[in-house]
Amino acid sequence: MTSLTLALSKGRILEDSLPLLEKLGLAPAGDIDRLLRVPSQDPNVHLVIIRPADVPTYVEHGAADLGIVGKDVLMEHGGDALYEPLDLGIAQCRLSIAAVKGSPFAQPGPLAARKRIRVATKYPEITRRHFAARGEQVEIIKLYGSMELAPLVGLADLIVDLVATGNTLKANGLVETEIICQVSACMVVNKASMKMKHAALRDLLTRMQSLGA
Ligand code: AMP
Repeated sequence: MTSLTLALSKGRILEDSLPLLEKLGLAPAGDIDRLLRVPSQDPNVHLVIIRPADVPTYVEHGAADLGIVGKDVLMEHGGDALYEPLDLGIAQCRLSIAAVKGSPFAQPGPLAARKRIRVATKYPEITRRHFAARGEQVEIIKLYGSMELAPLVGLADLIVDLVATGNTLKANGLVETEIICQVSACMVVNKASMKMKHAALRDLLTRMQSLGA
């Protein structure tokens, strides 16, 4: 039998992936809080549990045959070297721009009249592309987390971050000014694996599709 390695994004996507893995008979057969490589209930499928931003790299290099990753991560990484056959519809949220409520930056729309806008984000590429597409140049401040803090302490005028319920923005006195895109988790597949392990991957993807993914 062909063996497959499936890369999973640690955190919210992993939590949302577990019911799907369960239905597919691929639930982790080991301690996912400690182990980085875990067998699944299917002896032919191993799971690796890694940081979301590393999933495209593992799959691109064939260290994993396939992976579950957020579209945000994929857009930031650039997904050309990967097949993206399925939107799983899980971990749904949106990538948005937000500002301090009541600040001059809280108005939606072009920034043209304002100077040296500073945008704090974990997504410098997506942010640069988004503003550049409108002919706006912004100073991008790369952060690794807690973006909501940046405008509160004067580090940035705007943030670009994931929003699900909007509660985190609200709790921190921020308002969403623009949605850049809708985000959900999708399945990505290594191009060489798709050829070499076609039958096993097709079978898995078909089963996922039939579950409504
Ligand atoms: P919320 O308060 O429900 O709008 O959630 C916003 C917080 O959760 C922000 O800090 C986001 O970075 C994070 N977040 C929301 N959705 C996701 C997701 N699908 N994956 C990872 N982080 C998320």
